[in-house]
Amino acid sequence: MFKKTKILCTIGPASEGKRVLSKMVKAGMNAFRINTAYGSLKEYERKIKTVWSVARIPVVVDLKGPEVRMKCETSFMAQKGDIVSVGFKPSDKVSFNRSIYSQIHVGDIILLDKGKVKSKIIAKSKGKIKLKLYSHCCFRNGLGVNIPDNKLDIPALSSHDKDVIKLCKRLDVDYVALSFTRDIKDVLELKRRLRGSSVGVIAKIENRQGIQNIDDIIGVCDGVMIARGDLGIEIPFQEIPLVQKDIITRCNSMGKISIVATEMMQSMVENPEPTRAETSDVANAILDGADCVMLSAESAVGKYPIASVKAMAEIALEVETHHPIRPLDEKSHDKVSLAISKAVTSIIETADVDKIVVATHTGYTAMLISNFRICKDIIAITDNSKTCRKMNLVYAVVPVCHSVFKEKDRVVEIAKFCFRKKLVSKNDLVLFTAGLYNKKPTTNIVQLHKMSEILSYRATN
Ligand code: PGA
Ligand code: MN
Repeated sequence: MFKKTKILCTIGPASEGKRVLSKMVKAGMNAFRINTAYGSLKEYERKIKTVWSVARIPVVVDLKGPEVRMKCETSFMAQKGDIVSVGFKPSDKVSFNRSIYSQIHVGDIILLDKGKVKSKIIAKSKGKIKLKLYSHCCFRNGLGVNIPDNKLDIPALSSHDKDVIKLCKRLDVDYVALSFTRDIKDVLELKRRLRGSSVGVIAKIENRQGIQNIDDIIGVCDGVMIARGDLGIEIPFQEIPLVQKDIITRCNSMGKISIVATEMMQSMVENPEPTRAETSDVANAILDGADCVMLSAESAVGKYPIASVKAMAEIALEVETHHPIRPLDEKSHDKVSLAISKAVTSIIETADVDKIVVATHTGYTAMLISNFRICKDIIAITDNSKTCRKMNLVYAVVPVCHSVFKEKDRVVEIAKFCFRKKLVSKNDLVLFTAGLYNKKPTTNIVQLHKMSEILSYRATN
């Protein structure tokens, strides 16, 4: 059995070496994330190419979208009670990266440094504001800024994001993730810029607006990341567990990828083992139905990037065997694919099937079958290299790229191919689904075969 939950690792100084990367892949890393909050286009390209030289796994490039940060020429320490002047022009000593002067007011609370520092606007004039600090704060370039409940009118994409998008198209990356996705308009703007490419879109939900517009957002993107770091600053942290469950359930029923992110193994930034609470957090995300769990600081800057992946993989392997089967929201799916995936589930519940093999062009049927969370590996064979790389983020799906099989005896061909690739073994009972005799690539057959028998089959006519 393969690990079914996918592990997405943020790459940073702790994980840029080829030896570390190769160990992380062996330990269970399925895809990697490049954060574009810092660094240059050249650096992103170099990082992506380094990982791809070790393993051609999918990359998620994280766009910062309407995220607000501070720009700071030189770092300095400010104390509780201090008043700091902040401007909006790059020439100001401390400034915001966004032109939000007209949208913030005296009395507004501004949270700094991942919500750790509270501050209040006490004066505003001549293109600057004065911030009073409620605790000490180290001002530095890229310092995080959150202004909860303020629906800031900021463009969905900064000029840096637009440059990153061009790079993503040129490198043919697998996904871009849009930070602080607020509504369907943000996603559509991004998709418009990606037109002509097959780069997928992940919406990062990290504020109230994103939650309020969640169904529309899920409807137009390929997947959603529950970005609990900023989300826990923008809304009361106690709301996070139920929001996480709710978003995952919606993604599952609409056949979209769900990713749970941030602080999953936070203590492993310093320690070689997770806390028991972190162990449960990862397990519960999987039981909630997440396709993918993410490492941030743990893999980017932590002391134990390899051990973090290993620990996550061990938790996943243990939990997956106990995953209850989940129903699908039937309204949102094409009837033929739905019928096929329900048939697959029903067969699995009755017969002792070892593996499922799906021949798929778009990955849609594999995705639907995965969504039932049946405890079987789903080997998805596809002639589409993009589908193949993307399927790496889908729960239980083992993607394999192969050119189209002959129409005649297609299932026999597929069976022989899987055996050659050691994806199935001689004694396995394997359930095959594929598309046969149709123009459009729709899955329309289900067959159950003992491998030893189908392997010895010879066509007679
Ligand atoms: P970030 O997003 O790591 O890019 O900030 C994740 C989060 O906010 O949880
Ligand atoms: Mn964030």
